[in-house]
Amino acid sequence: MLTCCFYDTKPYDRKYFIHGAKFEFQECRLNAQTATTASGADCVCVFVNDELDKDCLSLLAEQGVRLIALRCAGFNNVDLQVAKDLGLKIVRVPAYSPNSVAEHTIALLMTLNRKIHRAYNRVRELNFSLNGLEGFDIHRKTVGIVGTGKIGKIAAQIFRGFGATVLAYDPFPSPEWAESNHVQYVNFEELLHACNILSLHVPLLPDTYHLLNVETLSQLQPGSIILNTSRGKLIDTTALIQGLKTRHIGGVALDVYEEEEGVFFEDLSGEVLQDDELSRLLTFPNVLITSHQAFLTQEALLQIAKSTISNIERFEMNEPFLEGTEL
Ligand code: NAD
Repeated sequence: MLTCCFYDTKPYDRKYFIHGAKFEFQECRLNAQTATTASGADCVCVFVNDELDKDCLSLLAEQGVRLIALRCAGFNNVDLQVAKDLGLKIVRVPAYSPNSVAEHTIALLMTLNRKIHRAYNRVRELNFSLNGLEGFDIHRKTVGIVGTGKIGKIAAQIFRGFGATVLAYDPFPSPEWAESNHVQYVNFEELLHACNILSLHVPLLPDTYHLLNVETLSQLQPGSIILNTSRGKLIDTTALIQGLKTRHIGGVALDVYEEEEGVFFEDLSGEVLQDDELSRLLTFPNVLITSHQAFLTQEALLQIAKSTISNIERFEMNEPFLEGTEL
């Protein structure tokens, strides 16, 4: 039976990975410094903030690891070419619950816009004042969706349900889906100029790194709201902070952050936060941050566990992986 070492695990991961195979759960993240803890394992199972660079992958291969099972869809944290050269197989969970992420995106927007987080705290203090809690209707606003893959499509459909005009940009558009859902594709520049709310649903790739930067942020309408539940490095944080300080950007909701490794998923409540840009972001009244939790629904966790176990079993039985799984 395959031995698999899981990294960056939390109680909610372990709860769903109950299985007969030999699974060992580590709390630490996998990187070049921790890779020797995989000694004796055939497989390592990793998440979004494990760092599988050249040094880490070389150490894994030297110790006899043969399979890297990502329990997520994104794979920007793995050097795929090095893994290939070392003969390491890489599998992922291409889709688990796109609804979980799309719904969290809407939850973030509604909380930020209607100031639910502030109202909740006020009412608990018996402060029933409404001053400063004004929001706006989503109805008849223009929403720009960047990336109409699995998550972007669902987010677009939910926004259509609000009665918003939905524009989309994707280098690989889905014209039939757009037509039947009354979504209009435009180019990226047009999207930036036209939308009141911009929502990112693209993978982190070399050409999407800092997709929102000084120049592209300046093309947004003044007062626009930005939503990012995809990957932190899609946004240049320094430029974002500048846009917030000048009030060009009306509000930002983030489930991901450029330098989230080592911060998100951890309880640092007794620590001194070392990241000055994250500290600054947390001071804005119009910034809402969650700690990469968009995927955290029962349905998504169950599907991640099922698909990951199936990937490991298929590797063990030498059976072909399901489409879109192997990288
Ligand atoms: P997907 O692969 O189904 O869709 C991605 C879409 O982006 C594709 O249609 C692709 O053509 C498009 N695209 C690629 N480059 C683009 C560009 N430069 N501009 C515009 N569009 C571009 O992926 P998905 O399942 O919808 O996931 C989207 C992203 O959400 C993932 O890459 C991941 O980073 C993120 N994600 C976050 C969480 C979370 O918990 N916050 C969970 C799952 C996924």
